[in-house]
Amino acid sequence: MEKSPHDASILNDPDHWRARDLAVLWHPCTQMREHHVAQGPDTLPLLPVARGDGAWLIGHDGSRTLDAVSSWWTNLHGHAEPRIADAIAQQARTLEQVILAGCSHPPAVELAERLLALAPRQAGRAPLSKVFYADNGSAGVEVALKMAFHWFRNRGDEPRRTKFVALENGYHGETIGALSVGDIPLYRRVYAPLLTEALFAPSPDAYLARGGQSAAACAEDAADALARLLDEHAGEICALILEPRVQCAGGMRMHDPVYLKRARELCDVHGIFLIADEIAVGFGRTGTLFASEQSGVMPDLLCLSKGLTGGFLPLAAVLATQTLYDGFLDDSRERAFLHSHSYTGNPLACAAALASLDIFESDDVLARNQRTAARMAALAAPLAQLPHVADVRQAGMIVAFELTRDGDKHTPFDPALRIGLRAYRAALARGVLLRPLGDILYWMPPYCIDDAQLALLAQTTQDAIREAVACA
Ligand SMILES: *Cc1c(COP(=O)(O)O)cnc(C)c1O
Repeated sequence: MEKSPHDASILNDPDHWRARDLAVLWHPCTQMREHHVAQGPDTLPLLPVARGDGAWLIGHDGSRTLDAVSSWWTNLHGHAEPRIADAIAQQARTLEQVILAGCSHPPAVELAERLLALAPRQAGRAPLSKVFYADNGSAGVEVALKMAFHWFRNRGDEPRRTKFVALENGYHGETIGALSVGDIPLYRRVYAPLLTEALFAPSPDAYLARGGQSAAACAEDAADALARLLDEHAGEICALILEPRVQCAGGMRMHDPVYLKRARELCDVHGIFLIADEIAVGFGRTGTLFASEQSGVMPDLLCLSKGLTGGFLPLAAVLATQTLYDGFLDDSRERAFLHSHSYTGNPLACAAALASLDIFESDDVLARNQRTAARMAALAAPLAQLPHVADVRQAGMIVAFELTRDGDKHTPFDPALRIGLRAYRAALARGVLLRPLGDILYWMPPYCIDDAQLALLAQTTQDAIREAVACA
């Protein structure tokens, strides 16, 4: 007799979920064929997840997988964190959603107050003083770009400033505007004919530093190049957008904080806005609550998302200066910022964000992260000795391992070998979810990760690297 589709033995079978999933879902950032091919170097196994518990993802059969990438860098305090779950449940019974044009609600107000109080400050500058909500990181970037452009237009600048400067190897999201200021060919190239033209300044990335050059010197050189670019296009530019400290999607490439300091000065010289995209690096990821703090710099626009809600719900916040805000106050509705998303400032998402901020305080998360980051450094150090590891670098709760053919920076593996994907499969088979960026492996775990889980992560990474490079 055929089993009912609700039979527990079927529902607890991961293969059941794999088949049902692949029959109907189109997954993000995935060549779906890799899920459909059962064998070979391009095979991408699908991991069905039934529930989460702290840093663990738990399968339908009870198997545990360590989430070493915080589910695309969103999760901070662990999966299914009860304090955030409770806050969302309570908010859902109180007010689930209300139009934010013309209406107000406490979670949106309170979250704005708290974010502004926590935001980076800089002596001699008026602090960030207004919050505009959007509902995902890319949308937040669109908001910041449009605000910067529109501000100059409202001021009546002629000829109009229409250009943005962004950094090579930067990433700001997938919508057309955000993709226009991104520089990762894999995501960008196909859509290039649709994109607006941006100017790209060299990345301050220290990995690319020429032999013997320090990370700071490398950042200074890149800042000099930025200065030249801004001079060349004086009067055409509205804003510089960048990811402070770490270009995450660009391969966890890290740069010296002096770059942001120089960039801030250059933006001031040219009277253009500085947009800090802290969507990935915000909320303690690089050691400080915001990465900009390490440069002693305050941006004019600060984009936050991903960890904002502790990884529970999509939400973005764009923090702006009073100068920006005042540029839109006018009799004309055309001079208003008419951008909107249906779910702007969703109360559930704001409640989750507030609960996450409470946890930062009650658990003293930043102090605990310092200890965790030190432990990660100690565990990562031996991996630097492996013959194919060209670089191990760290910024707070991010550690990256760059794999190359000969273990030096100039001999990348043949991409057809799919070394990163091989490492992915090897780690997954050992109960760890790594999701390499090309041949760059990284740790970006939930902050609640404990010593035993870190030890598993380090051992598995070592095993996965060994297994992956064995084909080369
Ligand atoms: C992920 C990311 C974005 C886009 O956020 P989404 O919510 O995925 O649209 C933008 N900027 C940076 C730096 C990111 O890492």
